[in-house]
Amino acid sequence: MEYRKNDIVTLDIEDCGVDGEGIGKADGFTVFVKDAVIGDRVTAKIMKAKKNYGYGRLMEILKPSPYRVEPKCAFARQCGGCQLQALSYEQQLAFKEKKVRGHLERIGGFTDIPMEPIIGMDEPYHYRNKAQFPVGKNKEGRIITGFYAGRTHTIIENRDCALGVSQNKEVLDRVIAHMEAYGIEPYNEETGKGLVRHILIRYGFFTGELMVCLVLNGTSIPKQELLIECLLEIPGMISITINVNKKRSNVILGEEIRLLWGKPYITDKIGDISYQISPLSFFQVNPLQTGKLYSKALEYAELHGEETVWDLYCGIGTISLFLAQKAKFVRGVEIIPAAIENANDNARLNGIENVEFFVGKAEEVLPAEYKKNGIYADVIVVDPPRKGCEESLLATMIEMQPKRIVYVSCDSATLARDLKYLCERGYELKKVCPVDQFGGTVHVETVCLLSRKDK
Ligand code: SAH
Repeated sequence: MEYRKNDIVTLDIEDCGVDGEGIGKADGFTVFVKDAVIGDRVTAKIMKAKKNYGYGRLMEILKPSPYRVEPKCAFARQCGGCQLQALSYEQQLAFKEKKVRGHLERIGGFTDIPMEPIIGMDEPYHYRNKAQFPVGKNKEGRIITGFYAGRTHTIIENRDCALGVSQNKEVLDRVIAHMEAYGIEPYNEETGKGLVRHILIRYGFFTGELMVCLVLNGTSIPKQELLIECLLEIPGMISITINVNKKRSNVILGEEIRLLWGKPYITDKIGDISYQISPLSFFQVNPLQTGKLYSKALEYAELHGEETVWDLYCGIGTISLFLAQKAKFVRGVEIIPAAIENANDNARLNGIENVEFFVGKAEEVLPAEYKKNGIYADVIVVDPPRKGCEESLLATMIEMQPKRIVYVSCDSATLARDLKYLCERGYELKKVCPVDQFGGTVHVETVCLLSRKDK
């Protein structure tokens, strides 16, 4: 049967799509329903219809799924941040495992996948060490802060995100009260006027150090001393900065950082390694799970102290420094120069000398070093952004013939595509381990081990 826009259908939700949406069938017509979870019986209104499938809006839950839980956050449904909060954590993990497996099978063409059980979190809430809150006004003209609703720039007011630390609220309450007291305007995206754009907060889980960075459409904030005084009431506050962003774009951060008080960075740890983190640095948002992720990557790299290792897409050197503890020498490559500065500082901070960092594109630096200097690799680790690796980079890796490749991925679809390429050219998929870093959301990290087949 075919359905049209505005039709109401009754569905049993039997599956979950890659974005967390519930999937059910009405007379062979597949309907994707956001906010419905596996096991629900629901009614949905068709919002968009194609020939064999459509997208529905959840109208009523006729029978709730046994896997349904009460979301911790009252805004879970509207907010763009979480997609799976209404699903029990156990089922979230099952969903993620299935998602990785599905991609490897369908896109990668793998069968008999050597998959280890997903590594979940002990506490799937309040795990994020970083939050960026947009500041704006509601319809009544009151200053608000919170998160963007899914796919929009409408702010859902919420100072206490269930994924973040409790200090977020303390910071936001103080900054907003300061704005109200001194008539400081939030930035308006439409007019380009107003001062306060975002409030960036970072917290060191192991050190307890707290950072606030005010992203301003300007270089200073009125009554700065009073604001600093009031922020210093919060335990752990060691860094207060301004980020200047006068651009009319939706990029959150500008390039210039001005120190208002304390240090321009906080320090935190993953495993035994300390990292200095500036407002502009990329740092994994869930340090506890990142420790587990990197330990897995280290285990897969099977280092004994004699190996030469390349860590491609190394960011601030997080994985490189982890690997350097067990390897002879590690070379990291990263496209952002400031991240490489952090990487070198972090190496120094930890007294690690067997590393060298290169600024540039992995797909340019690796072939250049290979052709010019005939460099060699026992193990190559890659941790690319969501779009995965350039094919030319994978081709260089194949030419270099490392014994092992460890692939750390935040997007299992591009991971599957890249693994397929490597496994068609002499490598074998030996191990796969998903690690959940992002409870409440559909995102999942995966570590894979590939070994060179002996000829
Ligand atoms: N391994 C790091 C960072 C992973 S995020 C960590 O765990 O913290 C991916 C990184 O790849 C980002 O730092 C991004 O700046 C960088 N990047 C993106 N495209 C790149 C490219 N073509 N070559 C090298 N690095 C790139």
